[in-house]
Amino acid sequence: MSVVTRFAPSPTGFLHIGGARTALFNYLFARHHGGTYLIRIEDTDRARSTDEAIAAIHDGLNWLDLAGDKDPVYQFSRIERHVEVAHALLEKGLAYRCYLSADELSEMRLQARTLGHPIRSPWRDKTAAEAPDAPYVVRLKMPIDGATTIPDVVQGDVTVQHLQLDDLVMLRSDGTPTYMLAVVVDDHDMGITHIIRGDDHLNNAFRQLKIIEAMGWQQPQYAHIPLIHGADGAKLSKRHGALSVTAYRDMGFLPEAVNNYLLRLGWSHGDDEMITREQAITWFDLDSVGKSPARFDTTKLTALNSQYLANMADADLIKLVSEDPLSDDIEKRLRLLIPALKERAQLVTDLPKMAHFALISTPPAIDADARPLLDSDMLARLHKLAEDYPVGLEDTDAVKAWFSDWLTQHEIKMRDIGPGLRVALTGTRQAPDIALLLATLGQEQVVLRLNNVCNNSV
Ligand code: GLU
Repeated sequence: MSVVTRFAPSPTGFLHIGGARTALFNYLFARHHGGTYLIRIEDTDRARSTDEAIAAIHDGLNWLDLAGDKDPVYQFSRIERHVEVAHALLEKGLAYRCYLSADELSEMRLQARTLGHPIRSPWRDKTAAEAPDAPYVVRLKMPIDGATTIPDVVQGDVTVQHLQLDDLVMLRSDGTPTYMLAVVVDDHDMGITHIIRGDDHLNNAFRQLKIIEAMGWQQPQYAHIPLIHGADGAKLSKRHGALSVTAYRDMGFLPEAVNNYLLRLGWSHGDDEMITREQAITWFDLDSVGKSPARFDTTKLTALNSQYLANMADADLIKLVSEDPLSDDIEKRLRLLIPALKERAQLVTDLPKMAHFALISTPPAIDADARPLLDSDMLARLHKLAEDYPVGLEDTDAVKAWFSDWLTQHEIKMRDIGPGLRVALTGTRQAPDIALLLATLGQEQVVLRLNNVCNNSV
Protein backbone atom coordinates (compact mmCIF):
# COMPACT_ATOMS: atom_id res chain seq x y z
CA MET A 1 0.00 0.00 0.00
CA SER A 2 1.46 3.31 -1.00
CA VAL A 3 1.15 6.16 1.51
CA VAL A 4 -1.10 9.13 0.69
CA THR A 5 -1.32 12.05 3.12
CA ARG A 6 -3.11 15.36 2.95
CA PHE A 7 -3.07 18.78 4.50
CA ALA A 8 -6.63 20.10 4.67
CA PRO A 9 -6.68 23.75 5.77
CA SER A 10 -9.84 25.80 6.13
CA PRO A 11 -9.01 29.09 4.42
CA THR A 12 -9.86 31.51 7.19
CA GLY A 13 -7.42 34.32 6.42
CA PHE A 14 -3.86 33.02 6.45
CA LEU A 15 -1.69 29.94 6.86
CA HIS A 16 -1.41 29.42 10.61
CA ILE A 17 1.96 28.46 12.05
CA GLY A 18 0.36 25.31 13.52
CA GLY A 19 -1.16 24.46 10.14
CA ALA A 20 2.24 24.83 8.53
CA ARG A 21 3.69 22.28 10.95
CA THR A 22 0.83 19.88 10.15
CA ALA A 23 1.55 20.37 6.44
CA LEU A 24 5.26 19.73 7.02
CA PHE A 25 4.62 16.50 8.95
CA ASN A 26 2.27 15.27 6.22
CA TYR A 27 4.81 16.19 3.56
CA LEU A 28 7.72 14.50 5.34
CA PHE A 29 5.77 11.36 6.19
CA ALA A 30 4.69 10.94 2.56
CA ARG A 31 8.20 11.61 1.22
CA HIS A 32 9.80 9.28 3.75
CA HIS A 33 7.57 6.45 2.51
CA GLY A 34 7.85 7.37 -1.16
CA GLY A 35 4.15 8.29 -1.13
CA THR A 36 2.02 11.22 -2.20
CA TYR A 37 1.23 14.43 -0.36
CA LEU A 38 -1.97 16.26 -1.27
CA ILE A 39 -3.65 19.56 -0.42
CA ARG A 40 -7.37 19.91 0.15
CA ILE A 41 -8.84 23.35 0.66
CA GLU A 42 -11.84 23.03 2.98
CA ASP A 43 -13.75 25.95 1.60
CA THR A 44 -17.31 24.95 2.47
CA ASP A 45 -17.72 27.89 4.85
CA ARG A 46 -18.62 30.29 2.08
CA ALA A 47 -18.57 33.40 4.26
CA ARG A 48 -14.96 32.93 5.35
CA SER A 49 -13.48 31.16 2.32
CA THR A 50 -12.63 34.17 0.19
CA ASP A 51 -10.30 34.08 -2.80
CA GLU A 52 -7.81 36.10 -0.78
CA ALA A 53 -7.87 33.64 2.09
CA ILE A 54 -7.27 30.76 -0.34
CA ALA A 55 -4.45 32.66 -2.05
CA ALA A 56 -2.89 33.36 1.36
CA ILE A 57 -2.81 29.62 2.14
CA HIS A 58 -1.11 28.80 -1.16
CA ASP A 59 1.29 31.70 -0.71
CA GLY A 60 2.35 30.39 2.70
CA LEU A 61 2.69 26.80 1.45
CA ASN A 62 4.69 27.84 -1.60
CA TRP A 63 7.01 29.95 0.51
CA LEU A 64 7.74 26.93 2.74
CA ASP A 65 8.05 24.70 -0.32
CA LEU A 66 5.12 22.61 0.89
CA ALA A 67 2.78 22.78 -2.11
CA GLY A 68 1.03 19.47 -2.84
CA ASP A 69 2.15 16.87 -5.36
CA LYS A 70 -1.04 17.37 -7.39
CA ASP A 71 -3.48 20.21 -7.97
CA PRO A 72 -5.33 21.04 -4.75
CA VAL A 73 -8.80 19.61 -4.20
CA TYR A 74 -11.47 22.20 -3.37
CA GLN A 75 -14.03 20.70 -1.03
CA PHE A 76 -16.89 22.96 -2.06
CA SER A 77 -16.73 21.68 -5.63
CA ARG A 78 -17.48 18.17 -4.40
CA ILE A 79 -20.81 18.85 -2.71
CA GLU A 80 -22.81 16.60 -5.03
CA ARG A 81 -20.61 13.67 -4.20
CA HIS A 82 -21.03 14.33 -0.46
CA VAL A 83 -24.82 14.39 -0.87
CA GLU A 84 -24.66 11.16 -2.87
CA VAL A 85 -22.94 9.38 0.03
CA ALA A 86 -25.54 10.59 2.52
CA HIS A 87 -28.27 9.23 0.24
CA ALA A 88 -26.44 5.93 -0.12
CA LEU A 89 -26.48 5.62 3.68
CA LEU A 90 -30.19 6.44 3.80
CA GLU A 91 -30.82 3.66 1.31
CA LYS A 92 -28.79 1.20 3.32
CA GLY A 93 -30.87 2.10 6.37
CA LEU A 94 -27.75 3.35 8.17
CA ALA A 95 -28.94 6.94 8.19
CA TYR A 96 -32.37 8.51 8.74
CA ARG A 97 -34.36 11.65 8.13
CA CYS A 98 -34.86 13.57 11.35
CA TYR A 99 -37.80 16.01 11.48
CA LEU A 100 -37.17 17.47 14.93
CA SER A 101 -37.97 21.17 15.05
CA ALA A 102 -35.58 23.67 16.63
CA ASP A 103 -37.77 23.87 19.74
CA GLU A 104 -38.00 20.12 20.12
CA LEU A 105 -34.25 19.86 19.71
CA SER A 106 -33.39 22.38 22.40
CA GLU A 107 -35.79 20.70 24.81
CA MET A 108 -34.23 17.31 24.12
CA ARG A 109 -30.77 18.76 24.55
CA LEU A 110 -31.69 19.99 28.01
CA GLN A 111 -32.93 16.53 28.97
CA ALA A 112 -29.90 14.84 27.46
CA ARG A 113 -27.56 17.06 29.44
CA THR A 114 -29.03 15.90 32.74
CA LEU A 115 -28.71 12.29 31.60
CA GLY A 116 -25.12 12.90 30.50
CA HIS A 117 -25.34 11.52 26.99
CA PRO A 118 -26.19 12.95 23.58
CA ILE A 119 -29.72 13.20 22.26
CA ARG A 120 -31.35 10.34 20.39
CA SER A 121 -33.90 11.50 17.89
CA PRO A 122 -37.20 9.55 17.96
CA TRP A 123 -37.05 9.60 14.14
CA ARG A 124 -34.27 7.06 14.24
CA ASP A 125 -36.79 4.28 14.73
CA LYS A 126 -39.77 5.59 12.78
CA THR A 127 -40.94 4.38 9.40
CA ALA A 128 -41.11 6.38 6.19
CA ALA A 129 -44.92 6.26 6.43
CA GLU A 130 -44.80 8.34 9.60
CA ALA A 131 -42.73 11.10 7.97
CA PRO A 132 -44.40 14.51 7.73
CA ASP A 133 -44.05 16.82 4.75
CA ALA A 134 -41.60 19.07 6.57
CA PRO A 135 -37.93 20.01 6.50
CA TYR A 136 -35.51 17.40 7.81
CA VAL A 137 -31.83 16.78 8.40
CA VAL A 138 -30.10 13.49 7.58
CA ARG A 139 -28.44 11.82 10.56
CA LEU A 140 -26.14 8.84 10.84
CA LYS A 141 -27.42 5.95 12.99
CA MET A 142 -24.64 5.67 15.56
CA PRO A 143 -24.21 2.34 17.29
CA ILE A 144 -25.38 2.58 20.92
CA ASP A 145 -23.82 -0.46 22.54
CA GLY A 146 -20.13 -1.10 22.87
CA ALA A 147 -17.13 1.12 22.29
CA THR A 148 -14.59 1.99 19.62
CA THR A 149 -10.84 2.10 20.07
CA ILE A 150 -8.71 4.08 17.67
CA PRO A 151 -5.05 3.01 17.59
CA ASP A 152 -3.69 6.52 17.12
CA VAL A 153 -0.05 6.56 16.05
CA VAL A 154 0.76 9.51 18.33
CA GLN A 155 -1.85 9.27 21.10
CA GLY A 156 -1.82 5.49 21.48
CA ASP A 157 -5.10 3.57 21.89
CA VAL A 158 -7.99 5.93 22.56
CA THR A 159 -11.41 4.48 23.43
CA VAL A 160 -14.84 6.09 23.33
CA GLN A 161 -18.15 4.49 24.42
CA HIS A 162 -20.69 4.58 21.61
CA LEU A 163 -23.25 5.94 24.02
CA GLN A 164 -21.28 9.19 23.98
CA LEU A 165 -21.55 9.63 20.22
CA ASP A 166 -24.55 11.50 18.85
CA ASP A 167 -26.35 10.70 15.63
CA LEU A 168 -24.34 13.24 13.72
CA VAL A 169 -25.95 15.39 11.06
CA MET A 170 -24.65 14.68 7.54
CA LEU A 171 -27.06 16.83 5.53
CA ARG A 172 -28.53 20.04 6.89
CA SER A 173 -32.17 20.94 6.37
CA ASP A 174 -31.21 23.00 3.31
CA GLY A 175 -29.67 19.82 1.84
CA THR A 176 -26.06 20.96 2.17
CA PRO A 177 -23.49 18.48 3.53
CA THR A 178 -21.82 19.07 6.88
CA TYR A 179 -18.10 19.32 7.40
CA MET A 180 -18.06 15.94 9.18
CA LEU A 181 -19.42 14.16 6.11
CA ALA A 182 -17.37 16.10 3.56
CA VAL A 183 -14.04 15.28 5.26
CA VAL A 184 -14.75 11.56 5.28
CA VAL A 185 -15.93 11.38 1.68
CA ASP A 186 -13.01 13.46 0.41
CA ASP A 187 -10.42 11.48 2.37
CA HIS A 188 -11.83 8.27 0.93
CA ASP A 189 -12.04 9.51 -2.64
CA MET A 190 -8.53 10.97 -2.47
CA GLY A 191 -7.23 7.60 -1.25
CA ILE A 192 -5.81 9.04 1.98
CA THR A 193 -4.05 6.33 3.98
CA HIS A 194 -2.76 8.43 6.91
CA ILE A 195 -4.57 11.33 8.54
CA ILE A 196 -2.03 13.50 10.33
CA ARG A 197 -3.64 16.55 11.95
CA GLY A 198 -4.00 18.55 15.16
CA ASP A 199 -5.32 16.69 18.21
CA ASP A 200 -8.26 19.09 18.36
CA HIS A 201 -9.73 16.72 15.74
CA LEU A 202 -9.35 13.56 17.83
CA ASN A 203 -12.99 13.59 18.97
CA ASN A 204 -14.14 14.04 15.38
CA ALA A 205 -12.18 10.96 14.37
CA PHE A 206 -14.58 8.64 16.23
CA ARG A 207 -17.60 10.11 14.54
CA GLN A 208 -15.92 10.19 11.15
CA LEU A 209 -14.88 6.57 11.58
CA LYS A 210 -18.53 5.55 11.96
CA ILE A 211 -19.34 7.04 8.54
CA ILE A 212 -16.37 5.15 7.11
CA GLU A 213 -17.59 1.89 8.67
CA ALA A 214 -21.15 2.48 7.50
CA MET A 215 -19.88 2.88 3.93
CA GLY A 216 -17.65 -0.19 4.32
CA TRP A 217 -14.56 1.82 3.44
CA GLN A 218 -10.97 1.16 4.48
CA GLN A 219 -10.09 2.76 7.81
CA PRO A 220 -7.15 5.20 7.59
CA GLN A 221 -4.36 5.40 10.14
CA TYR A 222 -4.79 8.36 12.47
CA ALA A 223 -2.01 10.47 13.95
CA HIS A 224 -3.27 13.35 16.06
CA ILE A 225 -0.42 15.68 16.91
CA PRO A 226 -0.49 17.97 19.96
CA LEU A 227 -1.21 21.61 19.27
CA ILE A 228 1.49 24.23 19.53
CA HIS A 229 1.59 26.34 22.66
CA GLY A 230 3.34 29.63 23.37
CA ALA A 231 6.64 29.93 25.24
CA ASP A 232 4.66 30.39 28.48
CA GLY A 233 2.80 27.10 28.00
CA ALA A 234 -0.59 28.65 27.15
CA LYS A 235 -2.31 27.76 23.89
CA LEU A 236 -0.69 29.71 21.05
CA SER A 237 -2.54 32.96 20.47
CA LYS A 238 -2.01 36.43 19.07
CA ARG A 239 -0.53 37.65 22.29
CA HIS A 240 2.46 35.34 21.72
CA GLY A 241 3.23 37.13 18.44
CA ALA A 242 2.39 36.56 14.80
CA LEU A 243 0.40 33.44 13.95
CA SER A 244 0.58 33.75 10.19
CA VAL A 245 3.46 32.05 8.43
CA THR A 246 3.93 34.86 5.94
CA ALA A 247 4.25 37.38 8.79
CA TYR A 248 7.49 35.54 9.61
CA ARG A 249 8.63 36.00 6.02
CA ASP A 250 7.92 39.74 6.32
CA MET A 251 9.84 39.90 9.59
CA GLY A 252 12.92 38.50 7.87
CA PHE A 253 12.92 34.78 8.58
CA LEU A 254 14.19 32.31 5.99
CA PRO A 255 11.78 29.56 4.90
CA GLU A 256 14.46 26.93 5.62
CA ALA A 257 14.79 28.19 9.20
CA VAL A 258 11.01 28.26 9.74
CA ASN A 259 10.69 24.71 8.36
CA ASN A 260 13.54 23.52 10.53
CA TYR A 261 12.04 25.15 13.60
CA LEU A 262 8.55 23.76 12.94
CA LEU A 263 10.00 20.30 12.40
CA ARG A 264 11.52 20.35 15.85
CA LEU A 265 8.28 21.45 17.49
CA GLY A 266 7.13 18.08 18.75
CA TRP A 267 9.63 15.94 16.85
CA SER A 268 13.33 15.49 17.36
CA HIS A 269 16.27 13.51 16.11
CA GLY A 270 18.74 13.23 18.97
CA ASP A 271 20.23 16.62 19.71
CA ASP A 272 20.34 17.71 16.07
CA GLU A 273 19.32 21.33 15.74
CA MET A 274 19.98 22.13 12.11
CA ILE A 275 18.29 19.56 9.95
CA THR A 276 18.14 19.84 6.17
CA ARG A 277 15.04 18.84 4.26
CA GLU A 278 16.85 15.77 2.88
CA GLN A 279 17.82 14.66 6.38
CA ALA A 280 14.29 15.30 7.61
CA ILE A 281 12.87 13.10 4.84
CA THR A 282 15.26 10.31 5.76
CA TRP A 283 14.71 10.54 9.50
CA PHE A 284 11.08 11.56 9.91
CA ASP A 285 8.60 9.16 11.45
CA LEU A 286 5.47 9.55 13.52
CA ASP A 287 6.67 7.33 16.38
CA SER A 288 8.96 10.09 17.64
CA VAL A 289 6.26 12.75 17.72
CA GLY A 290 5.74 13.68 21.37
CA LYS A 291 2.36 13.59 23.10
CA SER A 292 2.71 16.86 24.99
CA PRO A 293 2.28 20.26 23.35
CA ALA A 294 5.40 21.85 21.90
CA ARG A 295 6.21 25.47 22.76
CA PHE A 296 6.75 28.06 20.08
CA ASP A 297 9.56 30.38 21.09
CA THR A 298 10.40 33.27 18.78
CA THR A 299 13.79 33.72 20.45
CA LYS A 300 14.78 30.18 19.51
CA LEU A 301 13.47 30.64 15.98
CA THR A 302 15.53 33.83 15.69
CA ALA A 303 18.68 32.06 16.89
CA LEU A 304 18.13 29.32 14.31
CA ASN A 305 17.53 31.91 11.61
CA SER A 306 20.83 33.62 12.34
CA GLN A 307 22.60 30.25 12.04
CA TYR A 308 20.99 29.73 8.65
CA LEU A 309 22.12 33.20 7.57
CA ALA A 310 25.67 32.53 8.77
CA ASN A 311 25.76 29.30 6.76
CA MET A 312 24.50 30.82 3.53
CA ALA A 313 26.75 31.35 0.52
CA ASP A 314 27.89 34.99 0.18
CA ALA A 315 26.44 35.28 -3.31
CA ASP A 316 22.99 34.24 -2.06
CA LEU A 317 23.15 36.69 0.81
CA ILE A 318 24.04 39.53 -1.54
CA LYS A 319 20.77 38.79 -3.33
CA LEU A 320 18.95 39.22 -0.02
CA VAL A 321 20.55 42.61 0.65
CA SER A 322 18.88 44.20 -2.33
CA GLU A 323 16.30 43.08 -4.83
CA ASP A 324 17.47 45.70 -7.31
CA PRO A 325 20.34 44.94 -9.69
CA LEU A 326 23.61 46.17 -8.20
CA SER A 327 26.36 48.11 -9.93
CA ASP A 328 29.77 46.41 -10.13
CA ASP A 329 31.11 48.88 -7.59
CA ILE A 330 28.47 48.12 -5.01
CA GLU A 331 28.64 44.41 -5.61
CA LYS A 332 32.39 44.58 -4.96
CA ARG A 333 31.75 46.42 -1.69
CA LEU A 334 29.21 43.83 -0.60
CA ARG A 335 31.54 40.95 -1.39
CA LEU A 336 33.99 42.36 1.16
CA LEU A 337 31.33 43.20 3.70
CA ILE A 338 29.04 40.16 3.65
CA PRO A 339 31.28 37.70 5.55
CA ALA A 340 31.22 40.08 8.53
CA LEU A 341 27.52 40.91 8.26
CA LYS A 342 26.37 37.33 8.12
CA GLU A 343 27.99 36.61 11.47
CA ARG A 344 25.89 39.32 13.09
CA ALA A 345 22.59 39.37 11.21
CA GLN A 346 19.65 37.65 12.85
CA LEU A 347 17.00 38.46 10.26
CA VAL A 348 17.06 38.92 6.51
CA THR A 349 15.77 42.44 7.15
CA ASP A 350 18.92 43.22 9.16
CA LEU A 351 21.06 42.89 6.04
CA PRO A 352 19.94 45.96 4.06
CA LYS A 353 20.04 48.02 7.27
CA MET A 354 23.55 46.89 8.17
CA ALA A 355 24.77 47.27 4.59
CA HIS A 356 23.04 50.57 3.92
CA PHE A 357 26.23 52.64 4.03
CA ALA A 358 27.71 50.42 1.31
CA LEU A 359 24.68 50.65 -0.95
CA ILE A 360 24.84 54.43 -1.31
CA SER A 361 27.41 56.40 -3.25
CA THR A 362 26.65 59.79 -1.76
CA PRO A 363 27.74 60.70 1.77
CA PRO A 364 25.34 59.30 4.40
CA ALA A 365 23.02 61.43 6.49
CA ILE A 366 24.47 61.71 9.98
CA ASP A 367 22.31 60.42 12.86
CA ALA A 368 21.51 63.10 15.43
CA ASP A 369 22.96 61.05 18.29
CA ALA A 370 26.24 60.64 16.39
CA ARG A 371 26.84 64.33 15.63
CA PRO A 372 28.47 65.28 18.95
CA LEU A 373 31.31 62.86 18.10
CA LEU A 374 32.35 65.15 15.27
CA ASP A 375 33.87 67.96 17.34
CA SER A 376 36.59 70.21 15.96
CA ASP A 377 39.50 68.05 17.17
CA MET A 378 37.93 65.01 15.55
CA LEU A 379 37.31 66.90 12.32
CA ALA A 380 40.96 67.97 12.24
CA ARG A 381 42.06 64.34 12.46
CA LEU A 382 39.57 63.24 9.83
CA HIS A 383 40.75 66.05 7.55
CA LYS A 384 44.32 64.85 7.85
CA LEU A 385 43.24 61.30 7.08
CA ALA A 386 41.35 62.45 3.97
CA GLU A 387 44.51 64.16 2.72
CA ASP A 388 46.71 61.12 3.26
CA TYR A 389 44.41 58.23 2.38
CA PRO A 390 45.99 56.41 -0.57
CA VAL A 391 44.51 54.67 -3.58
CA GLY A 392 45.09 50.96 -4.09
CA LEU A 393 44.43 49.44 -0.66
CA GLU A 394 42.57 46.42 -1.96
CA ASP A 395 41.61 44.43 1.11
CA THR A 396 41.17 44.64 4.85
CA ASP A 397 44.71 43.45 5.61
CA ALA A 398 46.27 46.11 3.38
CA VAL A 399 44.08 48.79 4.99
CA LYS A 400 44.94 47.56 8.48
CA ALA A 401 48.68 47.72 7.85
CA TRP A 402 48.58 51.17 6.28
CA PHE A 403 46.24 52.63 8.88
CA SER A 404 48.20 51.36 11.83
CA ASP A 405 51.38 52.97 10.39
CA TRP A 406 49.48 56.21 9.82
CA LEU A 407 48.20 56.25 13.40
CA THR A 408 51.71 55.69 14.80
CA GLN A 409 53.19 58.32 12.54
CA HIS A 410 50.67 60.94 13.67
CA GLU A 411 50.60 59.76 17.27
CA ILE A 412 46.85 59.24 17.15
CA LYS A 413 45.24 56.53 19.19
CA MET A 414 42.59 54.40 17.53
CA ARG A 415 40.02 55.39 20.14
CA ASP A 416 40.59 59.07 19.32
CA ILE A 417 39.61 58.68 15.69
CA GLY A 418 37.65 55.40 15.37
CA PRO A 419 34.24 56.61 16.62
CA GLY A 420 34.27 59.76 14.47
CA LEU A 421 35.52 57.87 11.45
CA ARG A 422 32.66 55.42 11.77
CA VAL A 423 30.15 58.25 11.90
CA ALA A 424 31.69 60.03 8.90
CA LEU A 425 31.66 56.89 6.77
CA THR A 426 28.30 55.37 7.78
CA GLY A 427 26.30 58.12 9.49
CA THR A 428 25.81 55.89 12.52
CA ARG A 429 27.72 54.89 15.64
CA GLN A 430 27.22 51.17 15.06
CA ALA A 431 29.22 49.80 12.17
CA PRO A 432 31.62 46.97 11.52
CA ASP A 433 35.33 46.97 12.13
CA ILE A 434 37.08 50.15 10.92
CA ALA A 435 39.52 48.41 8.56
CA LEU A 436 36.69 46.47 6.97
CA LEU A 437 34.70 49.67 6.61
CA LEU A 438 37.57 51.48 4.87
CA ALA A 439 38.32 48.53 2.60
CA THR A 440 34.65 48.12 1.67
CA LEU A 441 34.18 51.71 0.66
CA GLY A 442 37.49 52.24 -1.17
CA GLN A 443 39.59 55.41 -1.46
CA GLU A 444 37.20 57.52 -3.49
CA GLN A 445 34.24 57.03 -1.15
CA VAL A 446 36.38 57.35 1.98
CA VAL A 447 37.78 60.70 0.88
CA LEU A 448 34.38 61.92 -0.35
CA ARG A 449 32.72 61.09 2.97
CA LEU A 450 35.52 62.51 5.12
CA ASN A 451 35.53 65.74 3.15
CA ASN A 452 31.79 65.92 3.45
CA VAL A 453 31.88 66.04 7.26
CA CYS A 454 34.92 68.32 7.30
CA ASN A 455 33.50 70.82 4.83
CA ASN A 456 29.94 70.93 6.08
CA SER A 457 28.98 71.67 9.59
CA VAL A 458 26.90 68.52 10.05
N1 GLU B 1 -10.05 21.82 7.90
C1 GLU B 1 -9.68 21.37 9.20
C2 GLU B 1 -8.90 22.46 9.91
O1 GLU B 1 -8.42 23.36 9.27
C3 GLU B 1 -8.81 20.13 9.16
C4 GLU B 1 -9.61 18.90 8.94
C5 GLU B 1 -8.80 17.64 8.98
O2 GLU B 1 -7.55 17.71 8.92
O3 GLU B 1 -9.41 16.59 9.00
O4 GLU B 1 -8.79 22.41 11.11
